[in-house]
Amino acid sequence: MGVIGVFGCKNAAELIYYGLHALQHRGQEGCGICTTDSTDFHRERGEGLVIEIFNKKKLSKLKGDCAIGHVRYSSGNMGGLDNVQPFLFKHHTGDFSMAHNGNLVNSRQLRMALEAQGSIFHTSSDTEILAHLMKMNRRKDRIDAIEEALTMIEGAYAFLILTKDKLYVCRDKNGLRPVSIGKINGGYIVSSETCAFEAVGATFLRDVEPGEMVIFEKDKDPKTILFAGEYSYKMCAMELVYFARPDSEIEGINVHTFRKNSGKYLARLAPVEADLVIGVPDSSISGAIGYAEESGIPYEIGLIKNKYIGRTFIQPSQELREKGVRLKLSPVRSLITGKRVVLLDDSIVRGTTSKHIVRMLKEAGAKEVHVRICCPPMHHPCFYGVDTSTYDELISAQFDVEGVRKMIEADSLFYLPEEYLLKAANRPDLCLACYSGKYPTHLYQSKGEFNIEHKF
Ligand code: SF4
Repeated sequence: MGVIGVFGCKNAAELIYYGLHALQHRGQEGCGICTTDSTDFHRERGEGLVIEIFNKKKLSKLKGDCAIGHVRYSSGNMGGLDNVQPFLFKHHTGDFSMAHNGNLVNSRQLRMALEAQGSIFHTSSDTEILAHLMKMNRRKDRIDAIEEALTMIEGAYAFLILTKDKLYVCRDKNGLRPVSIGKINGGYIVSSETCAFEAVGATFLRDVEPGEMVIFEKDKDPKTILFAGEYSYKMCAMELVYFARPDSEIEGINVHTFRKNSGKYLARLAPVEADLVIGVPDSSISGAIGYAEESGIPYEIGLIKNKYIGRTFIQPSQELREKGVRLKLSPVRSLITGKRVVLLDDSIVRGTTSKHIVRMLKEAGAKEVHVRICCPPMHHPCFYGVDTSTYDELISAQFDVEGVRKMIEADSLFYLPEEYLLKAANRPDLCLACYSGKYPTHLYQSKGEFNIEHKF
């Protein structure tokens, strides 16, 4: 999922619209924009791509110089228009709109506790929980209510909250989901990825820090509140490995450079005699270039992607994912026939996509296919909003490396170890929980571990 916000700029909806195009790779199932002209809110949203949902007429209705937007993918049964953000909440203390990237780990406990106190939920989304927590706190002003609500939620989030005169941007205390701030046309822009800044001509200012809430208010400098007592820098490694666009800079790391470094380390750690290096487009192209540069084996565009088919990994059902592979990728037969191929891929989740690609290359005449993966084996599910599935579906939770190699029918298989992933990112820490099982938060897997009674 991706979020974007604009504060204090004419035609805010148009800027959000172009920004959402730049964030489209983060989710293709639904999108929306909510604006405010200081008096009212205006909102359009729908299920589909940004290009399908918005047109000139709809954008012209989205008046105001402040706006937030969202692109989404869903996991499980969380689809449907009701779950497409931004959400809009009516309240006697002032209406507000919200958009969220991430996933809360204590949502079940909070939902049960809030329902017991009379809250009625309209969606199955975690995002609504923060709104209910804010609304319950009637005694406090808006900033205090948000701050207190943030101390009750746990998990991964970049929250944007738009009121008629302010924009609040909140990042979880471990910094799992990124969000950056830029400057544009005398106002401000915030986004899950900086590639949206390039799309609208904004200048990058800084990242929102873990545990920070930044408040934008008219005719004032942005204000910052550190709402978390403890914080850490555990940004999701998969943002760098898979999710983000190569032209994005996240916490000082260019995504292309990180992926190229990963490919270089793979070439050093797992060399192989081969004729060409190819990458699974788009997210593994940079890694393949790095591997080729380091090994001296030529890089070739051996797989062509049909750009008009959605990303297989973030389609919600296995059936759609499997059909998607062949529709999405085609081998360049004349390059591949008779060649020993090194194939770079970002990750192996269920293994079905990898198997299809290896088979496809062999059917196109590849003599050997050596698979190099730009992250460690995924042994554990993600509870922070990345649909890496359950233990039962994760191939590396079921098989060792040799077992996975056999399953995907590769001639050899090597994964980038954790320490080299961190080296490629040039930083001491990231969330690596889907590889290591060391989750940066409590997971609240049993019922009744969270009590909100004392908070009100
Ligand atoms: S568990 Fe994996 S996918 Fe989830 S936030 Fe951590 S690194 Fe990212």
